[in-house]
Formats: sequence, C-alpha cells, structure tokens
Amino acid sequence: MTALPGDPSLAYTPPAIDFLNTEIAFAHLSDAELRKTRWLFRLMNSPTLVRLGAPLMLWAAQYRLKWVEPIIRRTLFDQFVGGTTLLDCARNIERLARQDVLTILDYGAEGKETEADFNRTMNENIRAIDFAAQSSHIPVVSIKITGLARFGLLERIQHTRVLTRDELNEYRNVLKRVDAICYHAAQKGVSVFVDAEESWIQDTIDHLVWLMMKRYNRQRVVVYNTFQMYRTDRLQFLTESYDRSRREGFLLGAKLVRGAYLEKERQRAAQMGYPDPINPNKETVDDHYNTALRFCLDHIEHIAVCNASHNTQSVSVQIERMARKGIPPQHPHTLFSQLFGMSDNLTFNLARAGYRVAKYVPYGQVFEVIPYLIRRAQENTSVTGDISRELALVEKEYRRRKARRLRSGNAESQA
Ligand SMILES: Cc1cc2nc3c(=O)[nH]c(=O)nc-3n(C[C@H](O)[C@H](O)[C@H](O)COP(=O)(O)OP(=O)(O)OC[C@H]3O[C@@H](n4cnc5c(N)ncnc54)[C@H](O)[C@@H]3O)c2cc1C
Repeated sequence: MTALPGDPSLAYTPPAIDFLNTEIAFAHLSDAELRKTRWLFRLMNSPTLVRLGAPLMLWAAQYRLKWVEPIIRRTLFDQFVGGTTLLDCARNIERLARQDVLTILDYGAEGKETEADFNRTMNENIRAIDFAAQSSHIPVVSIKITGLARFGLLERIQHTRVLTRDELNEYRNVLKRVDAICYHAAQKGVSVFVDAEESWIQDTIDHLVWLMMKRYNRQRVVVYNTFQMYRTDRLQFLTESYDRSRREGFLLGAKLVRGAYLEKERQRAAQMGYPDPINPNKETVDDHYNTALRFCLDHIEHIAVCNASHNTQSVSVQIERMARKGIPPQHPHTLFSQLFGMSDNLTFNLARAGYRVAKYVPYGQVFEVIPYLIRRAQENTSVTGDISRELALVEKEYRRRKARRLRSGNAESQA
C-alpha cells in the first residue's frame, strides 16, 4: 500500500530557507529598477504623503484627469500592477515563470454599479480564464464579487429576508455571471479564487461561493473561498465549511488571508454600535491564521489551501507542517501567494526551494485599479509597517550591489 501525505513515515526535514537572501529576492530587477523601487518605497514610508495622496488619487480617478495617469503609471502602478491588459501582463508573467513563480490573474474592477459594467467584468474574467488555460504558469484567476454585483444589493441580501421582484431578478443575473465564470474555469482546467470583502456583504459572497464549490469541486478544486482570519468568527466558519463540504461530498478550496479592511471594519462597528467583528489584536489574528493554516494542511486530502500572506512566520508554519506531514513541496493542494511588487524575499526564495508559489498579478486600466493601489499604500503604512519591511529589504539589496560594484572596481584597478 502506498503512503499518502499525512503519513508520518513520509516526514522529512524542512529545508532551511534564508528569507533575508535579497540577492535571490531581487534577481529579476536591474540596478535601475532596484533604484526606482527604493525611491518609491521611501516615498510610501511617509504616512503623511500616503494620507494626503489617497483622496487626491480618488479625485483624479473620478474626473479621469489625464495628466495624473502617467504619474501613477510610472510609480505605484508599475510597482504593484502587472499591466493594463492581459497581453500587457505577458512580460511580467514570463519574468516570474523564469524563476518558477506562478501567476494568479486579478482583474482590478471593483465598486461597479451598472449591469453593463458587471457584464464587462464577467467577460474580462472569462477572457482571463482563456488566457490562463493557454499557459502552464497561470493556474488561477481571481475574481471580486463587487465587480460583478451591486454592493447595495449584496448588502440588502445579507440584511433582509424579503427581496423585491427587481432585486430577485438582479440577484439571478449575479448568480448567472458567477456561474458562467466558474463553469468556464471548470471546463478549461483553471481555478477561481473569490476575494473576501467587507463583513457586511461577506455572508452573501460566502453563500454564492458555497453554491459554486458544491457544483464544481467534485473532482478537483475549481473554486476557492477566502477566509479573513482577522475576523473573530472565521476559524469556526472554516471548520464548519470543512464539515459541510465532507457531508455534501465535495472538496473545499480555502484561500487564507488576514484581511484588508481593518480600519473600515472597526470604524463602522463603532459608528453603528455593534460588536467589533475583528480580533482584538494582531497576536490573536496571527494565532487564528496559523491555526487555520495547520487545520487545512492536516486535512490536505480534502482541502486545497492557499497561504496568501507576507508574514514570514506563517510561511514557516506551512513549511514545517508540510515536512512533518510528509506533504511534498509541489503538492497541488498547496500554494503560497504574495502580491505583485511585495515580499519578493518570500516568493523567490520559496520558489528556489521548490515550493508552489504564485504572485497575485492585478491588471486593469490605471484609473480602474486606483482603489487597489490606495489599499496597498494605506494598509501597509498605517497599520502594519509592511512598507518599512519592504524598504529594509530593498535597502539591503541596494547596499549589497553597491559593495559588490566597489569590490569589482577595486579588483580591476589592482589588476
Ligand atoms: C495573495 C493575496 C491575496 C489577498 N486577497 C485578499 C482578499 O481577498 N481579501 C482581503 O481582505 N485581503 C486580501 N489580501 C490582503 C491581506 O488580507 C492582508 O491585508 C495583507 O496580506 C497583510 O497581511 P499579511 O498576512 O501579509 O501579514 P502581516 O503583515 O503579518 O499582517 C498584517 C495584517 O494583520 C492584521 N492586523 C494588523 N494589526 C492588527 C490589529 N491591531 N488588530 C487586528 N488585526 C491586525 C490586518 O489584517 C493586517 O492587514 C490578500 C493578500 C495576499 C498576499
């Protein structure tokens, strides 16, 4: 009888990976590109600049100010976005693939309001699936339900039992769009990550994803839900989702994140006087996240898990658990993922050590992706200090290359 992952006889010693190896992390950047990245992270390190810049960018997007577009394009956009179109992303996808890093395509539409916009997003998601199906480097396409449905409708469904006839019709259209995307992905051998969003629409999203998983995850994991572990209730929701999926006979897709809407969530709860849905502190969030990760890896036969994080400790938790459980680094039910332009020290060092790792590569027109860009800048500067972490790594690589140039200059002059 062959041993399955999880059998202790398959346990191995986890590889020692140096996540501070910036030479591997930034090998894909030329000296000029590294200098530009360093300049940008230095700018973003200023909370005042980010605080003032965010409303300015939203204003520019609202009025489509042409002169602002090239400025954003050459700065934040180039750093965090793969391109304006699928074809425009091809160069970045190739670059990642050369270092064994996969791509998750993420069309940047969100906060749309009209049926025409929603249909456009659906068509773009389907095009992305076709594009992914032609490449061995793009296993997943990510979608956002607020690009396919009206926020107000998602909120109404969550908070009322009775919908009007028009709302029911609108919801049916949403279901059809989401189903068309998942059906297409199932046919083409691609998977779909459904992003998690604000807690006051997330129940509606969870229900939609549930229906899709039940329909398409019978043979392989086509559809993944996203679990935001900063929420107090998500650990329980994850284990309940697992139990239900087992009862109903399909595989669970779980993308784990900490959560991107921390301040907004806390603010709304305080304003409206309901209990804060977010864990009280970062330590508790980390604990929930790592517990969820271990739970998924312990049930790897039935759960496909994506560890979508820039947290080195959470990456190490997965490496150790996989070794202990004898789960091979390329197991198709495992994936690490970081956002394009961030935490290259994790992505490229994991890839070098043989793990399945993917960059989340957002794409879209400059003004379309502005909310995404603002989230990247804001979340990182104000709450987590991610940008300082990024900056420290970029500075380290900058100094390493400078020292190397000096050494080779000295060697030449001595010769
Ligand atoms: C590939 C990928 C996909 C993503 N998809 C989504 C998505 O679909 N939906 C979504 O919401 N987010 C998504 N995110 C963003 C994610 O939720 C985090 O905001 C971001 O990755 C930072 O968390 P971290 O795990 O990388 O690490 P860390 O830097 O260790 O954690 C930072 C996070 O911890 C939490 N936190 C920080 N301080 C506190 C505190 N005082 N109290 C409580 N919590 C705190 C916040 O969630 C904060 O973002 C995604 C991230 C990645 C890498």
